Amino acid sequence: MTSLPLVFDAPKRGLPPRHLADLSTGDRRDAVTALGERAFRADQLSRHYFTRLTVDPGEMTDIPAASRERLLNDLIPPLFTVVRKLSCDDGTTQKALLRAHDGTLVESVLMRYPDRATLCISSQAGCGMACPFCATGQGGLNRNLSTAEIVEQVRMGAAAMRAGELPGGPGRLSNIVFMGMGEPLANYRRVVDAVRRITEPSPAGLGISARGVTVSTVGLVPAIDKLAGEGLAVTLAVSLHTPDDELRDTLVPVNNRWKVTEVLAAARRYADTTGRRVSIEYALIRDVNDQPWRAEMLGKLLAKHLTTRLVHVNLIPLNPTPGSKWDASPPHVQDEFVARVRATGVACTVRDTRGQEIAAACGQLAADG
Ligand code: SAH
Repeated sequence: MTSLPLVFDAPKRGLPPRHLADLSTGDRRDAVTALGERAFRADQLSRHYFTRLTVDPGEMTDIPAASRERLLNDLIPPLFTVVRKLSCDDGTTQKALLRAHDGTLVESVLMRYPDRATLCISSQAGCGMACPFCATGQGGLNRNLSTAEIVEQVRMGAAAMRAGELPGGPGRLSNIVFMGMGEPLANYRRVVDAVRRITEPSPAGLGISARGVTVSTVGLVPAIDKLAGEGLAVTLAVSLHTPDDELRDTLVPVNNRWKVTEVLAAARRYADTTGRRVSIEYALIRDVNDQPWRAEMLGKLLAKHLTTRLVHVNLIPLNPTPGSKWDASPPHVQDEFVARVRATGVACTVRDTRGQEIAAACGQLAADG
């Protein structure tokens, strides 16, 4: 067993000052009264932030100027400045590079489809999981993001949709995936609090349906079990990438701690507790994990541990990352892989990868300025 940085809640190094979005509704009122302001000011602030999606003091005319300054300084400190926004796919994919108060860089990616809009958010700056095919994993972990830093990415994405920043006119942000930088379950408490803030009805939270939220993990078994007990109806995605321990030990180093069958057993418990189908992520890498026999082994293993009813395989054609020797499988190999998985009765689809040319696709987020 190798030693891996598997702390669930790492030290507070670099975290920003407390923010409205870190707090429950009750704690917001307490924070406001501690400043000598009336409790209902907390509700006004919440409406501006979570319902109107604004942090602009000029728009908060229902709060007297003197109070406004005091309240904003204390409860809505600036969390990010936008370094740049890059677009591709005819403007329907937009990557935002954000700089936190301490100079830390993170990225989020907004993708608009005909029927929905999905924001891919980061839960950590960098990542400690060290998967060799992922650009984020190559840089190591810089720090955890605070609850508010996670929520703020969503507020900004929702505001961009509402303002019609992407082609198609004003729209609504419907889906959130924790598939940006970081391992969400290694920043457990802050991520769970962020999910609550994202899904609570406005103005307590952003009012995005939990059904539209996906938390993706390398497979931290105790944290998956804990998540199942939170009473959140979010979708769990597990980055499996291969059904056998021998290869997975190298592709997803945390497999040295929790083996494939342990991860799938935890995924099954999650599905049983929440009633939600689990998504299995599989980056298809040419001549590494794309053999027909592996597809069959994958399908059979999933059917056994999760039942075909409770699982869905999401294939991700490998996206190129700097310095990596690996590339995506050719189309006929990919087609064969899909067919073999489906032959076992397990649902399998190929993810349409967005954002490759702006380094915004899965595994390409490195926030290298
Ligand atoms: N740490 C979490 C969240 C990141 S999600 C997790 O691993 O699940 C990002 C997804 O993209 C994961 O499934 C990850 O394995 C996958 N990925 C990473 N690098 C990739 C690459 N180069 N090409 C395609 N998918 C990749």
